[in-house]
Amino acid sequence: KKKGNGQWQIFDPDNNDLANLRRDHDLTSLLKLALKRTDLFQLNYQPIYAIEEATVSHYEVLLRLKDLAGNAVYPSDFIPAAERMGLIRLVDEWVLDNAIKKLATDHKTGADYTLSINISAPTLQSADFPKTLLGTLKTHRVEPRYVVVELTETAYIENFQMVLNNLQQISDAGVLVALDDFGVGFSSFSYLKKLPLSYVKLDGSYILDLQNNPDNQVFVESLTNMVNAFGMKTIAEFVEDAETLYKLQELGVAYAQGYYIGRPLPELDDMLCATGFGQSKKSKG
Ligand code: C2E
Ligand code: MG
Ligand code: MG
Ligand code: MG
Repeated sequence: KKKGNGQWQIFDPDNNDLANLRRDHDLTSLLKLALKRTDLFQLNYQPIYAIEEATVSHYEVLLRLKDLAGNAVYPSDFIPAAERMGLIRLVDEWVLDNAIKKLATDHKTGADYTLSINISAPTLQSADFPKTLLGTLKTHRVEPRYVVVELTETAYIENFQMVLNNLQQISDAGVLVALDDFGVGFSSFSYLKKLPLSYVKLDGSYILDLQNNPDNQVFVESLTNMVNAFGMKTIAEFVEDAETLYKLQELGVAYAQGYYIGRPLPELDDMLCATGFGQSKKSKG
């Protein structure tokens, strides 16, 4: 109407809907292919650093996807699409199986590391998730304590009771649990008491400008104190420089993860050697 009478324009949201629909359709075909083939999905590994011990304590597995032209598709695109299209369980199971298989191979040769694996809310809400995870661990003969399940706080959980039951089951079996991206999502402080957590990952948005943002420092320090009082540890993500790492140490944060420590990379074997995890591997071989 602003443009005057007799004019019309296609309503934008509809346009977006159509584009989104097409994207979802393309991504669905690509994801289905990636689940069948071996060359489209790839696991990357990013070190998580124990600040006081000055050592890498575990690695987070981050999934990568390439399209048929070899271009990277980002997790921020394909993970939500997989969730919308009902494919996320298959994707999460692909990651679990392949990551735990690799962990088993490495443990056999003497490397001794723990893996953090992201699991989406819809997967955590399915009744047979504990059976799937514990079954995978059993198949590959990996002790549950070598796996941390990361649940993102930004996911809306419809069936909290189911998630709670499932996490309790895997936790009773010895698997560790982390609450990811804490501070920006849907969860309330009651999650910290109700869920069987070992780690709380402070969202990267609080860490990126930690140096210059006193509010964020207060958030990080008081949350860490509370989390510690509950017998859990905080992990800071997006640690991009040395100054931030020193600040985190000052604030009492136990673990740091980010580009300053190490980028997510596919070459886990090289990282294991570089961080000393591979030492026993070398001496045995
Ligand atoms: P997340 O679990 O919070 O993972 C951290 C994200 O931050 C990763 O993005 C990582 O590459 C990025 N990152 C790490 N260090 C830095 C840093 O210093 N600065 C900045 N700016 N970014 C950093 P990525 O790999 O793109 O993954 C995005 C999200 O996708 C993950 O967030 C996770 O929620 C999800 N995701 C990734 N892999 C999987 C998977 O295998 N399964 C499921 N269900 N979700 C996954
Ligand atoms: Mg994560
Ligand atoms: Mg995170
Ligand atoms: Mg994040």
